[in-house]
Amino acid sequence: MNILVLNCGSSSLKFQIIETDLDLIEKDTETQKAKGLIERIGSQSLITLQADGKPSIKQAAPLRDHRAALDYVVRWIISAEAQIPGIRSLADIHAIGHRVVHGAEKFTKSVIIDEEVIKGIEDTIELAPLHNPANLKGIYAARELMGPGVPQVAVFDTSFHSTMPETSYLYAIPYQLYRRHKIRKYGFHGTSHRYAAYRYRKIAGKGREETNVITLHLGNGCSACAIKRGESFDTSMGLTPLEGLVMGTRGGDIDPSVLEFLAHKEGMSISEIDTVLNKQSGLLGLSGLTNDMRDLLEEEHEHQDRRAKLAIDIFCQRVKKYIGAYLAEMNGADAIIFTGGIGENSKTIRQRICTGLEWLGVEIDEKRNNELQHGKEGEISKAGSKVKLYVIPTNEELLIARDTVRSVKDAPRRW
Ligand code: ADP
Repeated sequence: MNILVLNCGSSSLKFQIIETDLDLIEKDTETQKAKGLIERIGSQSLITLQADGKPSIKQAAPLRDHRAALDYVVRWIISAEAQIPGIRSLADIHAIGHRVVHGAEKFTKSVIIDEEVIKGIEDTIELAPLHNPANLKGIYAARELMGPGVPQVAVFDTSFHSTMPETSYLYAIPYQLYRRHKIRKYGFHGTSHRYAAYRYRKIAGKGREETNVITLHLGNGCSACAIKRGESFDTSMGLTPLEGLVMGTRGGDIDPSVLEFLAHKEGMSISEIDTVLNKQSGLLGLSGLTNDMRDLLEEEHEHQDRRAKLAIDIFCQRVKKYIGAYLAEMNGADAIIFTGGIGENSKTIRQRICTGLEWLGVEIDEKRNNELQHGKEGEISKAGSKVKLYVIPTNEELLIARDTVRSVKDAPRRW
């Protein structure tokens, strides 16, 4: 089956075409046939398209909404210019898998999208006002363009974390607030944490029950996950993706009293404070320079910029703190896994996070760490390290495609 995987943001649309099926999943031999990204939907959009094995194409066009963007993508996919093997017309796209950010308590696994599911995602908008409306736009657009005959599946960022116990997901606020409004920790990046755990099992030859690991998704958004017996036991993001680690523009954990203090001292409204916490904090806020880790590392190295160093140090210390917390919560772990743009590509950050954790049995191998870059997968711990360290480049799209096939064929998900 050719699956179109869609990930719609407020002004962006990312896609991949992946050929997969139940037997290909079993053999782990799927093919990525094409991928692309449309940015700045709503104005002069920037379009990047790439068929497998061919150079990427960059274009610009005024695309007024997600429907226009998807229309553009679909026309390209079936065009003679793209020449994607096995795809000549719309009928060659057999199903669509959507990344949906928030599934709340309602969606604990991937589901085929019908009216009731759409209503459920709409009901969740108040928990993810930035993300779910964009995901819905992608769903509406795909339905309109592909017709009701093409099944669509929603894969939720939150669903992997639905196994968390109450002791992990409840905030210590009056219980009736949870009952009334479902205020609790949901966690995000679930598909990425799930993928890292799945690959770990393959590499280490472990069964689900034997999988006790900490996964660190370090990208623009960052989160840690404690995976106990193959399931999410705790995670650093919360009701929204604001809690936990230091991120590109989000500060993560903070004393909630800071909000009132800010309102009082700076005369800020709730929505202005929300903007500070979501868009002006984290690496950007601390450094005053950029939210981009690669650029910060360069500033620190080339110009010895004090605030760049401070931002990176705080970033690394927060990750260490969560590693320590999760090792305690799980009574130890067999491995720590790095993924996401920073986790996959920055040997320096991996080294800085792991240095000083030797007492906990975490020993990084400098040579292995230095060699593992640019999307490569492998182990970076010393031979005798009690806690193993791995780099596993994430592949959320593959899991979305697999979940789509399984949902359409009504096959059980095994991990
Ligand atoms: P997103 O969360 O938006 O998917 P990514 O996972 O692509 O983002 O991560 C983006 C982050 O990864 C940026 O901060 C970027 O600077 C960082 N990054 C990418 N490559 C490197 C590198 N070689 N060294 C350090 N940081 C890097």
